[in-house]
Amino acid sequence: MDVSNAHLLDDAVVTTTLDAVVTWGREASLWPFVFGTACCAIEFMATAASRYDISRFGAEVLRFSPRHADLLVVAGTVSYKQAPILKQIYDQMPEPKWVVAVGACASTGGFYDNYTTLQGIDEIVPVDVYVAGCPPRPEAILDAVISIQKQLKEEPKFTLRHQEFKSKLDNV
Ligand code: SF4
Repeated sequence: MDVSNAHLLDDAVVTTTLDAVVTWGREASLWPFVFGTACCAIEFMATAASRYDISRFGAEVLRFSPRHADLLVVAGTVSYKQAPILKQIYDQMPEPKWVVAVGACASTGGFYDNYTTLQGIDEIVPVDVYVAGCPPRPEAILDAVISIQKQLKEEPKFTLRHQEFKSKLDNV
């Protein structure tokens, strides 16, 4: 190479840090696993469809295999009977992974204050973002995706997340 023309590379080479590249990739390619059990799942379907178009935020690659997903979206009422299934799905997702509780039922049990309903999925899995509403509008679900993107920008890149979390099913 003619060293006198070395400055020509100025427009052809980009330098950055590994952290910046990894964060950029994660931020722009969240792959959701939707654990949809009730009406809030319909809101998520609207969020993913053309009017709200979750692909604008890079999260349109829905996966129904936990090993392919890094964003667990729990949308709907979760019964105690379903709780171990939810926990197993969470455990099978590779790190790093994030969890969104969509709506009152997933966040708190909602108005199902009874003997069958889990009173919030955070008894079973660690939740990063809670979305209020019964049901929340698609804009609120998109806001949760943006919030996860902001969180992951600020997190250390290669550490296990949620190590401190203790699930009620851990000792069962
Ligand atoms: S929060 Fe409301 S809309 Fe969502 S699953 Fe529960 S009852 Fe249905």
